[in-house]
Amino acid sequence: MKSPVYFADLRAGPNQNLIGKLKALLDAVGLAEKFKKGAFVAVKLHFGEAGNTAYIRPVFIRKIVDHIKEAGGRPFLTDANTLYVGSRRDSVDHLITAIQNGFTYAVVDAPLIIADGLRGGNETAVKVDLKRFKRVYIGSEIVRADALVSAAHFKGHELSGFGGTIKNLGMGCASRKGKLAQHSTVSPKVKRKKCEGCGECVEYCAQQAISLVDEKARIDPKKCVGCGECIIVCPNQAIQIQWDQAIPAFLENMVEYTAGVLKGKNGAATFLNFITQVSPACDCYPHNDTPIVNDIGIVASNDPVAIDQASADLVNQAQGRKDSCLTKNFQSGKDKFRALYPNVDWEIQLEYAERIGLGTRAYELEAI
Ligand code: SF4
Ligand code: SF4
Repeated sequence: MKSPVYFADLRAGPNQNLIGKLKALLDAVGLAEKFKKGAFVAVKLHFGEAGNTAYIRPVFIRKIVDHIKEAGGRPFLTDANTLYVGSRRDSVDHLITAIQNGFTYAVVDAPLIIADGLRGGNETAVKVDLKRFKRVYIGSEIVRADALVSAAHFKGHELSGFGGTIKNLGMGCASRKGKLAQHSTVSPKVKRKKCEGCGECVEYCAQQAISLVDEKARIDPKKCVGCGECIIVCPNQAIQIQWDQAIPAFLENMVEYTAGVLKGKNGAATFLNFITQVSPACDCYPHNDTPIVNDIGIVASNDPVAIDQASADLVNQAQGRKDSCLTKNFQSGKDKFRALYPNVDWEIQLEYAERIGLGTRAYELEAI
């Protein structure tokens, strides 16, 4: 059976602006019927790295907040801290970045709560019993929320081909330990040249997995549990992730994490993709290059697989922009993501998500 994916293009006029069209999408997916009065509703989005401007505009998020409040819910905006060292690596920097990017209370009318706490250790192990993971580690406040709205900026991505709903959930909701588990099967490593032997990581590691040998930090992989916290503690960025996961394994890992995020949220999750400013790479970079296609619209669905399939198809059906970094596949129908990242088979995430029962790739696009 095909899943409905509701589509709003970006045409607007005196009788309906884009905020009104977003409301029509929220009505179409029945967001207001998915939670009880007083329920906590997590709105999961990416607040944008400092310097990036491609993330979803706060005024759209305000509309989602208004909609939830009108239905009696208690919305909060959320994301989990990043694995790498950047402007969203802990809750303090993350909230400052979000506010500087416009997600202030005055604009969005909802509190911001970082799902995995101050340093990314506030996580809940969710049992999934799937091929690659028995348990996944998710930011606790997302697990504790009664309902979930995923508002994803749809764009290209260097590891997954594109980043949409599945990426916003599977990677975006994972705690630092969960993110590390998706990227790597091994402990972080110390770059000896950068290490000054200050010992901060030694004191910080709760597993006593780090020691100083010849005034340089050394990680004992037998003791390390892969929490990733030493990566952000080191003032010299000497501790680094070992990116050892091949792309197909990484994509399956991300999908299994998505299953963990959605566990217990049956009938209580809503998915939105903003196919606007479709930049070639992740919003985690402190910049965003020229979009690869013109803005397309906003889609909403109750199926996380169908919405990503439909969004990828909409981008690939569009004309590629010659003023972007695309070098081929400009024509309508040609694969823009493969042109950007020839070694990434983005379809794996959709195939695997369908196989484990997260949704279907078959969809019906319904224009609102
Ligand atoms: S915190 Fe960084 S610089 Fe200090 S000992 Fe650890 S790895 Fe070396
Ligand atoms: S990843 Fe966690 S457990 Fe492993 S060395 Fe770093 S702080 Fe210790």
